[in-house]
Amino acid sequence: MSSPLRRDDLSDLEGYHSPQVDVAVRLNTNESPYPPPPEFFEAWTAQVTGSAAHRYPDREARALRSALAGFLGQPVERVFCANGSNEVLQTLLLTYGGPGRSALVFEPSYVLHAHIAHITGTGVVTGERRADFTLDPAQAVGLVEEHEPDVVFLTTPNNPTGIVEPRETVEALVRTVADRAKPGLVVIDEAYAEFSPWTAVDLVADGLPLVVSRTYSKVWSMAAFRLGFCVAPAAVVDDLLTVVLPYHLSVPTQAAGTVAVRFTDQMGARVHSIVTERERVAAALDALDGVEAFPSGANFILFRTADGQATWEGLLAAGVLVRNFARWPRLDNCLRVTIGRPEENDAFLAALKEVLSA
Ligand code: PMP
Repeated sequence: MSSPLRRDDLSDLEGYHSPQVDVAVRLNTNESPYPPPPEFFEAWTAQVTGSAAHRYPDREARALRSALAGFLGQPVERVFCANGSNEVLQTLLLTYGGPGRSALVFEPSYVLHAHIAHITGTGVVTGERRADFTLDPAQAVGLVEEHEPDVVFLTTPNNPTGIVEPRETVEALVRTVADRAKPGLVVIDEAYAEFSPWTAVDLVADGLPLVVSRTYSKVWSMAAFRLGFCVAPAAVVDDLLTVVLPYHLSVPTQAAGTVAVRFTDQMGARVHSIVTERERVAAALDALDGVEAFPSGANFILFRTADGQATWEGLLAAGVLVRNFARWPRLDNCLRVTIGRPEENDAFLAALKEVLSA
């Protein structure tokens, strides 16, 4: 039997690059270093036990969406949930992208935006950031006017650079799309917003072409559950619910997301300690010769060394796994370290000192 052939437009598609290596200190995928609190597991188990497992789950995830809506101060009609914010992004592109349509991304940024665009047959228009990874707002608006993309992605804080975009840039992009004749959508990817000084959630309004996506994978310590959501105009949420697969969110996932928002105090305390640690690690990196660290509003820091690949290998040999961008376009010699527990951050800093002085 001959092997099936991938779609022609997917023949050169590569998978997601982030090795899952079993090492003592894993600081490569921006998860929370802390598991959810034990009371979360008690409440979640109680909710799942005795649920009608022989029936399909609530297709519209109403309890979960109401809990989130209450937490966010938004009407429930403006909340859409999916299996990780990656599935939110995919559903947005399945709905508003596709063949003959395009998405604008500002590189370097989260690779999955361009990747999912590719998979959904959406054309990609690439805007460039400046050498210090900041975005030129006038140039960004110019690209939206020139190419009229159907979807504009902006990640803030940006991954992997950590840069927080000012509110004015988001407002300018939304205004540009709202004012032009051709309809479109601005998607603000806020996977790390809890660690940053501001959020675009409050800008979302019915009739405005703005969607803000978020995740339970970082602050909520729930990467294993795969749960993300977006806040969007009610008409957009209706479209997404029409396009997404029916019953896509399992009962355990819906229950986990509903229960988690009862633990906002614990999560707030974690954000506080991670931000404090981020500032400590940033200061330590700044004090190291041969390291250029970039400012971050997220739970990770991007930094550059003279030979990023050698630094990454040296860290791995010392049992510390960070994300290797050393050979990526626009990110020469850059590595990204997730902020972990204080002792993990100490292990990373000690190993880095050792590797750089070798
Ligand atoms: N957006 C950004 C910017 C991310 O960095 C990530 C996680 N790496 C995601 C979305 C996806 O997160 P998840 O699917 O776990 O919600």
